[in-house]
Amino acid sequence: MCGIIGYTGKKQAKQIILEGLAALEYRGYDSAGLCVRGTDNKFNTVKCGGRVSELAAAADMVDLTGTCGIGHTRWATHGGPTKENAHPHTSESLILVHNGIIDNCLDLRRMLTEEGYVFLSETDTEAVAHLLDREYRACGDPAEAIFRTIRLLNGSFALAIMFKDRPGEIWATRRDNPLIVASAEDGSYLASDIPALLHHSRDICRPEEGVAVCVRADSITVTTPDGKSAPAKLERIDWNVGTADKEGFAHFMLKEIHEQPDAVRRCASHRVNAAGLPDFTVDGIDPSFWTSFDSIAIISCGSATHAGLVGRYLIESLAGIPVTVNTASEYRYDPPATVGHTLALAISQSGETADTLAGLRLAKSNGLLSAAIINVFGSAIAREADHVMYTNAGPEIAVATTKGYSTQVAILALMAAQIAYARGKMTAEAAAEYCRGLVNDVPAAISAIIARRDEIKALSAKIYNNSDLYFIGRGPDCPAGTECSLKMKEISYIHSEAYAAGELKHGTLSLIEQNIPVIALATDKRYYDKMTGNIREVRARGGYVLLACEPDFAHPEEFSDDSFILPAVPAVFSPLVSVVFAQILAYEAALIRGCDVDHPRNLAKSVTVE
Ligand code: GLU
Repeated sequence: MCGIIGYTGKKQAKQIILEGLAALEYRGYDSAGLCVRGTDNKFNTVKCGGRVSELAAAADMVDLTGTCGIGHTRWATHGGPTKENAHPHTSESLILVHNGIIDNCLDLRRMLTEEGYVFLSETDTEAVAHLLDREYRACGDPAEAIFRTIRLLNGSFALAIMFKDRPGEIWATRRDNPLIVASAEDGSYLASDIPALLHHSRDICRPEEGVAVCVRADSITVTTPDGKSAPAKLERIDWNVGTADKEGFAHFMLKEIHEQPDAVRRCASHRVNAAGLPDFTVDGIDPSFWTSFDSIAIISCGSATHAGLVGRYLIESLAGIPVTVNTASEYRYDPPATVGHTLALAISQSGETADTLAGLRLAKSNGLLSAAIINVFGSAIAREADHVMYTNAGPEIAVATTKGYSTQVAILALMAAQIAYARGKMTAEAAAEYCRGLVNDVPAAISAIIARRDEIKALSAKIYNNSDLYFIGRGPDCPAGTECSLKMKEISYIHSEAYAAGELKHGTLSLIEQNIPVIALATDKRYYDKMTGNIREVRARGGYVLLACEPDFAHPEEFSDDSFILPAVPAVFSPLVSVVFAQILAYEAALIRGCDVDHPRNLAKSVTVE
């Protein structure tokens, strides 16, 4: 969470920092600030309690001439989203920005206050600034001061620091939070994530945890805790700059919804071999791997957990091996017992999700095999898992995931077929037919739904004015509903829950009153009869039923107030299709309600705090 940017070089820093912060705003947007070192060597700082656009306006009122500076867009953990709590934070000898949480900040605050430091904010970050000042003044060496300081910190951090007496330099360090440095003709850059750097450089380095990095206009040096220094090892990345722009769409979310057919096709076809069979050797995974475990423990948060629920359904029904889906924030402290060889499968779009990373580390330390489904190349989880399957969805900027989720499900769907085929539970013909469906029919079905946006918009006008709604379904529609429901609450702020359709009568039916919307997903003909029964129960209580079903559902008009006929795909793939209907429904409802679709309140992407 939170976005950090830094620049030192030949150009003016202010604009680079503001543009970088705008590109990172999806990581946090409670408050923002920046500091540029002036030509007189003074730190000129601007902060505000609002968005980056407000910071840009405030920055125009101040002289921020200078070629070295740092900026921050915040997702508050300690103290409200006020100007005082906005970063950067200063101490006598330095100024810094921080991404993360310092768990022992109260103890540090107490100690530093006793030593005479005066705190001006409620943040945990300010304790780091004063502690680093204390250590820097004691030893006079930035790298040594950083090492001494981080030894005293409990928690997670990425820090970018300017020391008053070291012009032209930005120092940085990290633990459990992402930080990337990059080198270009015009200078050197530092940021929390790649999209902020794409316009400037393709040559990046992801510093290891616990090192001290010194970024200068013409060099980037990494010092390890044993005092050895060396130039940063740069790697070339090949993401397309265009993919981090809105490209004419009103919102990143809408653009990313439209990118799903291609993203799913690319992600799946990449792992289908010339014989038309699932094949993960492109990920460096040998076919024998798929028979080397007895069960799978998925470790994930948020939408990745919903992808995991769909994955469980697919893997258990096709391959017949047990799968558990574990909320990473619980798993990291209380992992469930396992029997035999268990594959720990971490799922995270950013590859930096703090709880998922901790869960993966715990699983590995307990001797589990590990693999990860990740979008961001070279991210922490990708580096630590034994095997990585990249979704290759390109940068996902909207806080509410769309293509990130779909591509995770696409990989899980292929994994299900691969495991089933490798264990003789699926014939080569059936596996090839399945892969054809995933690579061709699913993207076509997603495109067909996107083309019907107006129809979905008209349906959203019928539900947007409610404070609660429910998704119900059976079979594959049950896990699919969880993500549909999250989309709705995340961006439109309508309270929404997903239930197994048969579960409503065990309590939740008491909440169904006149016109409460219930969105019934019916994509698997095995359950049509049961679904019509459950829908009747809702309608008997006055609920408004919007039925999203496949074309072979007989007489949808008899069972619903409104219906949306989903394109036909085999039921196992329907979670990849129905979710697109729900994404657009939520998007349109959010627009009518005047919500900030790309920046839902209180949220941020890439959750790097616990
Ligand atoms: N914990 C710090 C704060 O609340 C940094 C949060 C962030 O990562 O944005 O200010």
